[in-house]
Amino acid sequence: MVTCRLCPSAELTQADRAVLDFEYRSPGAYTYWRCGTCGLLNIDPVPDDHTLGLAYPDTYHAYQPHANALARIMKRRYWRKKAQRCARYVKPDARILDAGCAFGDLLVELKRLGYGNVQGLDFNARVVEAARGHGLDVVQGELTSAGFEDESLDMIVMTNFIEHVHDPVGVLEHCRRLLRPGGVIVGETPNVDSWDYALFRRDWGGYHTPRHLYLFSDDNLPLLAEKAGFRVRSISSLLQPAHWALSMQNLLQDALGRPRLRNGRNWLFTPLLLLALPINLVQMLVSRTSLVEFVFEKDAVSPDRESGGIS
Ligand SMILES: [Zn+2]
Repeated sequence: MVTCRLCPSAELTQADRAVLDFEYRSPGAYTYWRCGTCGLLNIDPVPDDHTLGLAYPDTYHAYQPHANALARIMKRRYWRKKAQRCARYVKPDARILDAGCAFGDLLVELKRLGYGNVQGLDFNARVVEAARGHGLDVVQGELTSAGFEDESLDMIVMTNFIEHVHDPVGVLEHCRRLLRPGGVIVGETPNVDSWDYALFRRDWGGYHTPRHLYLFSDDNLPLLAEKAGFRVRSISSLLQPAHWALSMQNLLQDALGRPRLRNGRNWLFTPLLLLALPINLVQMLVSRTSLVEFVFEKDAVSPDRESGGIS
C-alpha cells in the first residue's frame, strides 16, 4: 500500500500512470499517487539505487556543458538572478552551501557578488572534479552523510533537489541541524499546481521520471516546512519554460517510439524553450508556473538553547 511521504495519509488516488523516463530511457514505468490530504504526488514503485544509477547516466543534462551559446547565456542569467535573490537573505560573510551544485555556476555568481565563504556539494565525481578545476570548493557526497558540522551554515541552497530525495522531511530536518539560528534554505522545486502539469499530465516535463520521486505544490510546501521545523519566509513562482519544452519533447518521444536523444534533449528543445516564454510569462502573472522557489527559515533562537538557558 502506498502512503504519502509527507503527511503521511493512506488516502491516495492515482494521478498518472505508465509514466516513463522519456529523456534517458532508463527502464521502468511508474505511477504517481496523489495524496488526498496534502496533494503530494508520490512515485510508485520507488526506484532503487540500481535503477537510479541508470537514470543518471553520464549524458545527464546537468552534467553536460551547455549545448549552444543561447543556452549558455540563458543559464548564466538564471544563476546570476538566483545569486541576487540569495543575497537578500544573508550578509557577505555568510557561509553558504549549494547542495546539488553540479558545475558550481551559482557558486561562481555568489563569489562575484562578494560572498567568499561558499561551498558546493554534489554526488557526481566528474562534475565535482570539473568544479574544483575552476577553483571552487566542492565536496563529493550526499548532504546527510557529507560530515558538515551542526550549526555551521547560514544558508543552504537546493535548486531542483528536494524532489529527488527519498526522505524530503528527513533531509530538511538534517538541514535544520546544519543551519545556525536564523539560517535559511532557498530551494526550488517543480509545482504540480501549474498550467503545464494540468495540460500535459503523464508527459509533463516536471515529472522527470524516475528522478523526481515526490512532486510538491505551492499549497503543500508550508507543510514540508512545518514538518521539518522551519518557518516559511516566502514561496513564489519562477519562470520555467524548460518544463514546456520538455513536455512537448516528451509528447513527441511518446508518439515516435522514443528515439534516442542527445543528453536527454532533442534539437527542438531550444526553439520550444523560446516559444514557451510568452505563455510562461502569463503564468508568472497568475503564479501558476511549474517551478516555485521556497525560502524556509530556522528560528533565530533555537528552542533547544532557549530551554537550556532557562534550566
Ligand atoms: Zn500527504
